[in-house]
Parts: sequence; structure tokens; C-alpha cells
Amino acid sequence: MGKTKYIFVTGGVTSSLGKGIISASLGKLLQARGYSVTIQKLDPYINIDPGTLNPYEHGECFVTEDGAETDLDLGHYERFSNSPTSQENNVTTGKIYQAVIDKERRGDYLGSTVQVIPHITDEIKYRIKLLGNKGNYDFVITEIGGTVGDIESLPYIEAVRQMRWELLGNTVVVHLTLVPYLAAAQELKTKPTQHSVKTMLEQGVQPDIIVCRTEMPLTENLKSKIALFCNVDVASVIESIDAETIYDVPLLMLEEKLDVEVLKKLKLPVENEPELIKWKEFLNKYKNPTSEVTIGLVGKYVELKDAYKSISESFIHAGTENDCRVNVRMIHSEEIEDLGIVNQFDGLDGILVAPGFGSRGIEGKIKAITYARENKIPFLGICLGMQCAVIEFARNVLDFDKANSTEFNSKTPFPVIDMMEDQKKISGLGGTMRLGSFGCKVTTETHAWDIYKEEKIAERHRHRYEFNNKYLEDFRNAGMIESGINTQGDLVEIVELKNHPWFVGVQFHPEYKSTVANPHPVFVNFVKAAMSYHDQPLDAEN
Ligand code: GLN
Repeated sequence: MGKTKYIFVTGGVTSSLGKGIISASLGKLLQARGYSVTIQKLDPYINIDPGTLNPYEHGECFVTEDGAETDLDLGHYERFSNSPTSQENNVTTGKIYQAVIDKERRGDYLGSTVQVIPHITDEIKYRIKLLGNKGNYDFVITEIGGTVGDIESLPYIEAVRQMRWELLGNTVVVHLTLVPYLAAAQELKTKPTQHSVKTMLEQGVQPDIIVCRTEMPLTENLKSKIALFCNVDVASVIESIDAETIYDVPLLMLEEKLDVEVLKKLKLPVENEPELIKWKEFLNKYKNPTSEVTIGLVGKYVELKDAYKSISESFIHAGTENDCRVNVRMIHSEEIEDLGIVNQFDGLDGILVAPGFGSRGIEGKIKAITYARENKIPFLGICLGMQCAVIEFARNVLDFDKANSTEFNSKTPFPVIDMMEDQKKISGLGGTMRLGSFGCKVTTETHAWDIYKEEKIAERHRHRYEFNNKYLEDFRNAGMIESGINTQGDLVEIVELKNHPWFVGVQFHPEYKSTVANPHPVFVNFVKAAMSYHDQPLDAEN
């Protein structure tokens, strides 16, 4: 297509309008028209990355192939587009300032005063263009976190203003706002949209397209009013009505011609329709399941819907693949610790123990695993969940009294999970774990083999602790085997039980790689096992 085009997605009025889903949907539509697209998120906070952020603050931390700890919106980008993102796809104010300050210390600025404009804005522009230059993409979609008018967002909007000027005709600004419905007046209100566009204008940026989040359809009159006050064509006022699922949004945006408007602004041909056959098939299957299972998700952030985002989305992909609705029942690990296994476990067809850090809720997770192991309920342990399965087996099958991970008890007599040697030398917290994609060799004639059906796989990691190989022989002899080993060393990546219908623990995070086009085989098989258990709970031993 020639020169890379840059699309900026900004937000006004309030946060949580779904800029990430709008960006991912626009990316999907352009990709379905045959263009190459990548989506980037600029986050205006000062943390270098969300890796050190508490899930209460920021939801899940998503991990890319190359080991970046990123905003969860990158998960949406990958799940929609089925193409991996990278370190460059998530930039924070912390990263920008760190780069500028490092340059200043090296003397790169040759004695000049270092300022927000031009030095910070230059660094922002460099990070945006880097993706276009490096990846040779037709489109770079850059979602700007936060809300227009925030102090933190100012340098980003200024960078957009400059890029629009420099790349004349090769940029589009899509502004997402809220059109609230006032029940008392029985009216949709456009004033907040007008104000947020005014704020952008004060900062020198005129949006090209306005996407309006709304609970009610927008009338032509209302669209004209927004167009008039915000200096855009009526066709560029796009309705984004509340959708039944996030996966409906690309089709809603197709109906509203968001992609067509973007192409028109960039003077690109609007010839064929986007090819979305597979997407529509997925949506149809997702909405018309023929069976149903309930999986218990045991974790400590149960009240937080975004904390296990990739896991819940993976269940949607895997359930759809199996024509099955997967109900996820959140179970608080600390409540199990206090109350034991109570009726929250009734009717579960599978149990997933979630990833996590720190000792809070661990004993509850271990109780849940004993329950799954003894009752032969399909079990999946992810990262910390796998480590807990190892601890549970050590304590209750091997009779290793007080066995533990050294993360929770550094003096345990049986450190069945221990820190890797090279991790012991690291003192800082950010970006210092075993991060990103690592190869794994799968053993034949195991559940892991049934799942992957190939010897060499690669999965994404985010942890410091590992299975302690000193105890490998004990575990093997008692029936817990290692069915996946790191290809570069001897780290255990997958464990499973020999005499259990489906009990698998993975040291990596399969949930980061599940997409609409490629549901992850670990989840697909786990759901299958839950379906068999649901149909024949009494016959589960077969
Ligand atoms: N806390 C464990 C570790 O660091 C597990 C991490 C996780 O579940 N992502 O190894």
C-alpha cells in the first residue's frame, strides 16, 4: 500500500468506554480487507509497565511473545487479530521519561534544556513511528489511554497534533465519546461530546471521526447535531450501541461503516467488503451452544472481573470450539481457607486454579486441588495453580510434611517449588521474571500429547519459581509425571496425574495465546474433559 497510515483512537467524557475494543474492532475490519495492521497502546501513567501494578489497580497484566508485561488491551488486540504484539506495542509515560532521562545523562542533547516539547513529544512520536517503520504495516492504530483533558494525556495529544501536521493526509483521529441517556428528560444528550471535542480543539486536534457510545440508537437528527457542533461529516458520526458481547463490535462497526470512513479520510479505495466469514461463524456458534458446563475458577481476585480476563476469554474461545457454553463460577481461595470446601463446589464440571503471587489464599487453592484430585474432577492449574498442585501432591500423596514453595515458606523442609538459580541474583522487581515465550518438549502418550499432538511447542511465561527437580523421581514414582520439559534446560513445564481422567498443571500461561481464530488447545481439551465429566460424573474414572 506504500506509506504506513497512522490512526489515533482517543477517548472523551469518561474512561471505560471501550477504546480497546473499538481499536481492536477497527483493526479487525481493516485486516479483513487485506491490510496489515498493528495496534499500540500508549498509557499515560508513570510506571514503566503494568508488571508491578496490583490487579486491583489495573486488572490483568498481559504478556507478549517477546516478554513485555503489558496492558490487558493488548490481549484484546491479539484475540481479535490473531497476530502477536510486542514490546513496542505498549508504551507508558514511565518508559518515555526513562528513555529521555537516559539520553540526557549520556549527553545526547548536547547541553540543551530538556523539555516536554520537543523532547518528550519527540520520544512519543518515535515510539509510534517505530512500529510503522519496523513492521512495515499498512496501518498502525494507536490507542491513547486516559481521557482527553487529563493532565497526563497532554503530551500524547500534542504528539498527535505534530504527527498530523508532519504526515499530512496520512493520519486519522477517531474520538470515542459517551452520549448519555437521561431518563428524566427521556433524551440522549450530545453536550458531553461537544465539550470533549472542544477540549481536543483547544489542544490543536480536530477529530475526523466521532464514535458515540450509547445505550439507545442515535437518530439522524442527533448525528447531524454532533456533526454540526464538532465539525465532522454526518457519516463520520458513528453509533456504538451497547453490544451483547465484545465479539459483536466488529460487525456493529462494519454496519456503521467505521472502516469505510477511515479509508475515505485516507483517500484509499473502498472496493470489496471485508472478509469476515470465520468471524461470523464463530459468533454464531458462540451464541448457539448445544451443551453447557460450569468451571470453578479459584483465585483471590474474584470480585474483579478484569483480573483473569485472558482466562475468561479463553473459555469463550474453547467453549465455542466445543459448541458448549462455559459458565465460570468465581471461587474465592481465602474463603475456602476459612470455610473449607462448601457448596460453592457443587455441580462443578472442572476446576481451574489461577495464577498469582504471594501467600494469600494459597491454602484454599491447595484444598480445592485435593478436592479435584480425589473426586477425579477435571483440573487445570496455571502457573501458581500448577505449583499448588505440586505442593498438594507432595503433602498429601508423598507425605512430605509442610512441603511448600520457597515463595511462601523459605524454611520448608520440602521445597518442591523453588526459585531458579539465576533469579536469586536479581533484586529489582520490574521485568525481572522468566518472561515471554519459551520452547517446551512434550512427552508422547500423555494428556499433554493429546492436547498438543506435537513434540515441540512454545508458550508464554511470567514467574520466578520452578518445580524442584531434586524431587522428580519421588513424584514420578507416586504418579505425578512431567509431560513437558523446557527445550533449553531441564525445567518442568507441564505436570499431570497418571490415574486421573484429566489433571494437568502448566507452568506457563496458555491463556495469553488463545484467540478467536485459534482457541488454545489446553482450554479446548479442558472444556472437552469437563463436558465428559458433566455427562458421566459417576463414570469419570474411565
Ligand atoms: N508466584 C509464582 C512465581 O513467581 C507464580 C507466578 C504466576 O502464577 N504467574 O513463580
